[in-house]
Amino acid sequence: MNDEIIEYLMPVNIHFGANKLDEAGALVASIGKKALLVTGKKAMKKSGVTDRLIRSLQNSSVEVTVFDQVFPNPSDDLADRGADIVRKNGCDVVVGLGGGSAMDAAKGIAVVAALGGTLWDYIGENRVTEDVIPVVTIPTTAGTGSETTPYAVFTNPELHRKDAVVSKYTFPRISIVDPVVMKTMPPSITADTGFDALGHAIEAYMSIFANPFADACSYESVRLIGEALVKAVREGNDIEARGKMAIASSLAGMSIAQVGVVAGHGFAMAIGGLLNTSHGRTVGILLPHVMTYNLNSIPDRIARLAPALDLAPTGDSHKDAENVISSIKRMMQDIDYPTNLGAIGVRREDLQKILDDSMKQEDIDFNPRKIDRSSAEKFIDSIL
Ligand code: NDP
Ligand code: MN
Repeated sequence: MNDEIIEYLMPVNIHFGANKLDEAGALVASIGKKALLVTGKKAMKKSGVTDRLIRSLQNSSVEVTVFDQVFPNPSDDLADRGADIVRKNGCDVVVGLGGGSAMDAAKGIAVVAALGGTLWDYIGENRVTEDVIPVVTIPTTAGTGSETTPYAVFTNPELHRKDAVVSKYTFPRISIVDPVVMKTMPPSITADTGFDALGHAIEAYMSIFANPFADACSYESVRLIGEALVKAVREGNDIEARGKMAIASSLAGMSIAQVGVVAGHGFAMAIGGLLNTSHGRTVGILLPHVMTYNLNSIPDRIARLAPALDLAPTGDSHKDAENVISSIKRMMQDIDYPTNLGAIGVRREDLQKILDDSMKQEDIDFNPRKIDRSSAEKFIDSIL
């Protein structure tokens, strides 16, 4: 843990609450007059949320152009296309409504529209060095935490690579976190995105950069997920469970925004780039295995999460850490969650390509127990 030199930045104005969506118009109007609404192709149209948002914007005299072309794991050219529309229409605010894919697309569009070039020019750390068009995010999944992070993740289909834009200028300006819009998530998406949030909270907690500010966000995120994830999967209309998951996701985002993630995400980025898998499901499957891999290096840290999961400490930190991992596996069993990578289509033939890419993902370097190509090979091979 590095608790001597710490910088903490969380410049997002969060508005949380049931039906906060209806305040979107007034909030967006406080920073812009012409919005590009960036969203997916189906879910929000079907649930009526897109229409409600458009009405709210129009009631506050915000002009709206809709860009409803976002697909899961958005490609870099999607951001380039959206940016063209922003420039043509003179939009001065970009609103991302959807899961991580739509929110990240909104951030990428805001970067390219303001600074020119193409999205891939800005991949990596601190390649965006000035203000971009302000972004408002409205998450409809509880998982990525994109509403509180500066990350915008894109896939380059030619390179088969997933990577992120990250800089202090790519945080959303405002995030409207409304659990009501999350009610329509089917159980599988609720579970996948929920385990993404848990992956963020716990990977950040295990990171070599972990610090007490991020730890506090991670701990409370784990506690809320322990209380609410299985409930939200089983009973999608339980607004209290949805609310807890929404807050847990935003908290985990605040944590990774400060200290990043570790091996679970390093491997998940490589696998997602190659096979276009569900990000949350990939992270979820990997999570207990990554914790087990790290167990002997950081038993005390993993053990400290025991009370968050309602596990009484035994006085033996190794045992407590094992109990934490078992408790997460139990959550997965309770909802019949897949436990190996074969379940998402990863085959032994893919292994070398996954290793080629994951060894270039810096999340792997932030893992508390060292990982080289040969240990990575053994690790992935054992969970195929
Ligand atoms: P997506 O945004 O990809 O959405 C997955 C599916 O869920 C879509 O088909 C979408 O439908 C549907 N959906 C979304 N909300 C609802 C809802 N309320 N009801 C019914 N269906 C819904 O999923 P994620 O949120 O998991 O985002 C994943 C992306 O985020 C990946 O690219 C990942 O790499 C990235 N990510 C970003 C992070 C960050 O900090 N920025 C952190 C972690 C991951 P439709 O297509 O119709 O909209
Ligand atoms: Mn993630």
